[in-house]
Amino acid sequence: MTILMIFSFINFKQTISKFIFLLIGREVVTARYGTQIYLSVDWPGCIFPTNSSTWWKDLRGLDSAVISHNWLLEAVERQIGNGRNTNFWLQNWIGGSALRDKFPRLYLLSEQKEIRISEVVRESFDRSRLVWRRGLFQWEEDLFGQLEALIMEVRLRICDDQWVWNLEDDGNFSVSSAYDRLAVVLQNANPVSAMGALVFDKIWSSPAPSKIIAFSWQLLYDRLPSKTNLYRRSVVLDSANQECLRCVAKPESGTHLLLHCDFAQTVWREVCKWLNLDIIIPPNLFFLFLWFYGVSSNKKVQKGFLLIWHSTLWFIWKARNARIFKNEMKDPIEIVEEIKVIRWRWSLKISPCLLYEWLQLPRYCFRR
Ligand SMILES: [Zn+2]
Repeated sequence: MTILMIFSFINFKQTISKFIFLLIGREVVTARYGTQIYLSVDWPGCIFPTNSSTWWKDLRGLDSAVISHNWLLEAVERQIGNGRNTNFWLQNWIGGSALRDKFPRLYLLSEQKEIRISEVVRESFDRSRLVWRRGLFQWEEDLFGQLEALIMEVRLRICDDQWVWNLEDDGNFSVSSAYDRLAVVLQNANPVSAMGALVFDKIWSSPAPSKIIAFSWQLLYDRLPSKTNLYRRSVVLDSANQECLRCVAKPESGTHLLLHCDFAQTVWREVCKWLNLDIIIPPNLFFLFLWFYGVSSNKKVQKGFLLIWHSTLWFIWKARNARIFKNEMKDPIEIVEEIKVIRWRWSLKISPCLLYEWLQLPRYCFRR
């Protein structure tokens, strides 16, 4: 699933590889994080452990890239062994979704919301083991009949329950299948232009941390929680509350915030001054990406420029959040200095340069 090519691709792959451990290597994960993390992983409820490390949060971020449905949840399924570790109602173990979602009325009436499959299925499904708050009406009995028909063939086995990845025939997770699915889901919702397709094809080819790339990716798909998007999704109901913090009568869209806002333009100009580039602010971020990409035909330099592109977006967004949520005001020049230093740290593993070289001659360092 979650993604590919060169270095950042590898970053992402590492992220997902860890994720897969969680899905299919319970012992591995439990050994590292303790049993709490395993117990906290509740796919149907989508409850993610608060003490999880950053890769888990990265994945959660991509999970929310799709608003209409939980694509990640749909891609995993519980394969039943002895039925002891799978919740009968809440986990997706048969028919593509949780029984709670298939039969909400019956779930509502159940006295056993936490019941495990092994308590309901012995030799086969035993309908007498389900207890209801009251007697069922006829139409509810009909629903119960449908539920029974769905699970009557289920037989338990002498092995543990486990997660399987249903985008591959063998049930094993793969980065490419996850990425392909997510790309299809997003592109169905937001068809991309030829230019967009070109950018999405290259966007993961960067040594930036996976969470930074995931952020850029969501931005290009217009999935950031900007004010205009929050209003469009009815999270914010006041239409007057869409204005950019720094501009009068300018809606805070992703493109405005990260590219056309005066603050963002100043940051981009200062970054380009450092890179010895003359920038003309383009109409959108796709143009800007391809411009950065096209500055050089040297692969190392291209990666260097794209890493700057990613990190500049990320730091402008962070500055916006700091202002909204912490009331912190940052100067564009401060942001640029931050980008230079952080970006230098990220690049140490691929182009070891001294900081003063980096600050004075970034292009020279890209080539190392
Ligand atoms: Zn603005």
